[in-house]
Amino acid sequence: KANKDMHPNDTVIDVAGRKIGGGHFQVIAGPCSIESREQMTEVAEDVKMAGAGLLRGGAFKPRTSPYSFQGLENEGMQMLLEAKKATGLPIVTEIMSAEHLPLFEDVDVIQVGTRNMQNFQLLKELGKVDKPILLKRGMANTLEELLMSAEYIMAGGNEKVILCERGIRTFETSMRNTLDISAIPMLKSKTHLPVIVDPSHAAGIRFMVEPLTMAAIAAGADGVMIEVHNNPEKALCDGKQSLTPESFAELMKKVRKTTEFF
Ligand code: PEP
Ligand code: MN
Repeated sequence: KANKDMHPNDTVIDVAGRKIGGGHFQVIAGPCSIESREQMTEVAEDVKMAGAGLLRGGAFKPRTSPYSFQGLENEGMQMLLEAKKATGLPIVTEIMSAEHLPLFEDVDVIQVGTRNMQNFQLLKELGKVDKPILLKRGMANTLEELLMSAEYIMAGGNEKVILCERGIRTFETSMRNTLDISAIPMLKSKTHLPVIVDPSHAAGIRFMVEPLTMAAIAAGADGVMIEVHNNPEKALCDGKQSLTPESFAELMKKVRKTTEFF
């Protein structure tokens, strides 16, 4: 179902009037994790002012260590919904277990993180949902495996899948991951689904978010997802790669110019 040879027309996914794919570019922005009502609302207002089309924020966090901040879960979901109401921005947030689906009723796009790309039971459950799924590439998975995971969701009847390249594990350790820029044209040749890039998790370092965003646009991505925090030094998760609202606004100006050019 994801195969371009069988379905040559690009899929355009409409999220509350924001189109992604088929020449429509979107920016998703917000904090890695929802930390408080104040933080979420403030960042939401800031990214909206800067021109982001969708708001992100994690309530269920798949952390490497069980002793790291795990997210505000249910309470965080309520804060994210409040930020959605306050700004009118559609929201994107990660699901870790299908059991939590009832909490996602007013979520606009459900994210599957890198660590769950091959959680086939979860993918099957999301195949029954009538909402777009943002499927992130596993950090050590091939493009074929990513497409097969999209196929799991689509096979269940949900054909609204957005693919996301977020960096892969390589021998290079200077960055958190290595952005596989080649994944964009390759995926676009194989599938009609929208392909977006997450430069924040690929880089792991703030200063690289902008050049990787520009590279993603040049390579033909249908959007980017960027982490923004109102106080990155104090962030409970991923502060090093988070942009300040000011630097995000600067980046948005360049994104607007560059997407026009391409
Ligand atoms: C995230 O988007 O916050 C996240 C956890 O990303 P990834 O699954 O790509 O690590
Ligand atoms: Mn993060």
